[in-house]
Amino acid sequence: MATILDENITYLKGVGPEKANLLASELGIKTFGDLAYHFPYKYLDRSKFLAISELNDDLSFVQVKGKIIRTEMLGEKRRQRFTATLADETGTVKLVWFQGAKWLKDRVKANQMYVVFGKPTEFNGSLNFTHPEIEELERFQNKLEFNWQAFYVTTEKMKAKFLNSKAIHNLQQHLLPQLKDKLTETLPGYLIDEHKLLHLYDALYNIHLPISQELLQKAQYRLKLEELLYIQLKILRIKHYQTTHFGGFRFEKVGEHFNRFYSEFLPFSLTNAQKRVLREIRLDANTGQQMNRLLQGDVGSGKTLVALMCMLLAIDNGFQTCLMVPTEILANQHYQTISEWMYPLGIQVELLTGSTKQSKRKTLHADLASGMCKILIGTHALIEDPVQFQNLGLVVIDEQHRFGVAQRAKLWKKNVQPPHVLVMTATPIPRTLAMTLYGDLDVSVIDEMPPGRKPIKTVHYNDSKRLRVFGFMKEQIELGRQIYVVFPLIQESEAMDYKDLADGLESLSRAFPPPAYTISVVHGKMKPEEKEKAMELFIRRQSQIMIATTVIEVGVNVPNATVMVIESAERFGLSQLHQLRGRVGRGAEQSYCILMTGNKLTTEGRTRIKTMVDTNDGFEISEVDLKLRGPGDIEGTQQSGIAIDLKIANLGRDAQILTFARQIAEKVIEDDPKLESPQNFVLKKIMEQKWKYEFNWSQIS
Ligand code: ADP
Ligand code: MG
Repeated sequence: MATILDENITYLKGVGPEKANLLASELGIKTFGDLAYHFPYKYLDRSKFLAISELNDDLSFVQVKGKIIRTEMLGEKRRQRFTATLADETGTVKLVWFQGAKWLKDRVKANQMYVVFGKPTEFNGSLNFTHPEIEELERFQNKLEFNWQAFYVTTEKMKAKFLNSKAIHNLQQHLLPQLKDKLTETLPGYLIDEHKLLHLYDALYNIHLPISQELLQKAQYRLKLEELLYIQLKILRIKHYQTTHFGGFRFEKVGEHFNRFYSEFLPFSLTNAQKRVLREIRLDANTGQQMNRLLQGDVGSGKTLVALMCMLLAIDNGFQTCLMVPTEILANQHYQTISEWMYPLGIQVELLTGSTKQSKRKTLHADLASGMCKILIGTHALIEDPVQFQNLGLVVIDEQHRFGVAQRAKLWKKNVQPPHVLVMTATPIPRTLAMTLYGDLDVSVIDEMPPGRKPIKTVHYNDSKRLRVFGFMKEQIELGRQIYVVFPLIQESEAMDYKDLADGLESLSRAFPPPAYTISVVHGKMKPEEKEKAMELFIRRQSQIMIATTVIEVGVNVPNATVMVIESAERFGLSQLHQLRGRVGRGAEQSYCILMTGNKLTTEGRTRIKTMVDTNDGFEISEVDLKLRGPGDIEGTQQSGIAIDLKIANLGRDAQILTFARQIAEKVIEDDPKLESPQNFVLKKIMEQKWKYEFNWSQIS
């Protein structure tokens, strides 16, 4: 049923065909509804002014007031521009307009007081406002007392056609009155009453044209809560469906293999955190329901070992297991350690990756179908391959952020009944994000490092200190240690990265010449066999330095490596930096992480580097990361399968609202899992609209 929100945007006053096209192509705004839900990204208090002396290049939009002391028309024809000089008691600043120069010349007068609003930028050593908004002070003072102005995302193309933030604001002023009394409420009445929420129209009105600060806050609250509530409802429905539709295998006993491994072959004792987590998993795998559990733990906290013991548990109960990892290198490494450990127990371990030969695959298929092979380790080739297990009881997924929910579901098809799933991640995820990204999973946390680890020392140097860094590297190599040197990899320009890496290799080779030194190189363009060889060289200590793009990020384990040098560290995200640093500090020796950067860092870049230098705590780092980047950019959110395309809520800042939304959703699903009661009709309808296309995945398996 069409509503006012479906109305074509061309019918709005102020929007002709040209603007309509731009709105559609640039922002996807085609209807009244799209515009009403194009929320401001910030508000500025336009009752506040800065002194001209306080202006600097780093500020975003600000407001100043003062007297215009001089105006001038400069340049000819298309290069013509109008400039004015604004002065207050503290100084002067130049204003420049290239567009509408003539128009402004007739209106902006010397010796009058004005309010100027814009972004200060540095040009030829002095501060300028280019294309600021300008208004006579007297007129400005006669306007509404509540002076919060909403700001909207626009694009360069739009600005060129005068569709700037202000223009969108004007469109909202035309639009909102038309919606009055015509909107269908999108939350059930009982929730609105119970939690004293604004009604939809009032919320939309105040989000764009706030009448007071209090109403603005209430509007934000209502819209954020609604947004998060629907996501939680979606997640909890999936979870409910899983727990009620699939029985789970029962891992009833702790058997011979588990016990023998634990008492005879485990070279160290488990940390308390590892023991606790093992207990949690054991209980969860014996409830008669399918386990879906996330195992979180910082790099090096010993997750893989816990996973292996869970696999033994599965095997002792008569099941097969598989371990999926994101890269071939990692698969090989896991395969080697695990088969060594399993050999004395007589457990067959196999490897399946993209490079596995057809002939090998054949015998592998047979061994899996007959149940001979108990542990299969592989990459996502495992999903693509038509393998069938005899009785797959447990799937372990390492470094989960690369496997989406939908892919997990695919794995289930390899079996008669869904196996238990244990997802391991070393990316510490803030609680709020976990609740959303992995909201359908239960969570176990390893929050303790194996004993004897020394915290990694992290330092920051700029390029001028390179020789000193080389000197330090030499000392470490003298001591018999190994070193990683990592270069950034940017997907869009592999060629350029390769150049960075090649230049780096050249200068390293000069500083560390053969035959005294051997350097291994691994980068994205190499064939798997070549990568493999280079890795082997390093693992066997035949090379002292391993230079790489970020491929080593995910889980390679070389305890003798004690130095991680990260080149152009400012180009890495925080969680990546933390992952990389986790490659060292795995043995008993003191380890170091050296962050190399250029001289000029952005504010954000500086914060990232400082955070790394200040703390080793992955959770602390992830909180900073979430605040800096917003959840949309946090690794894994795109692939997670639960799209968090949030329009208004922010998982970094709105943790409380999220927790509340989760509680409401839990209660709703508990009372009415299928949303059948009349009072939840609205919820059901909106859920169907929102997730028409995606919703079926939970039903497929
Ligand atoms: P993660 O997968 O969490 O990054 P791993 O399981 O790879 O960590 O463990 C890192 C290293 O620590 C490995 O060499 C592993 O053998 C070792 N390790 C694991 N648990 C313990 C423990 N309880 N005591 C000592 N060393 C351990
Ligand atoms: Mg690991």
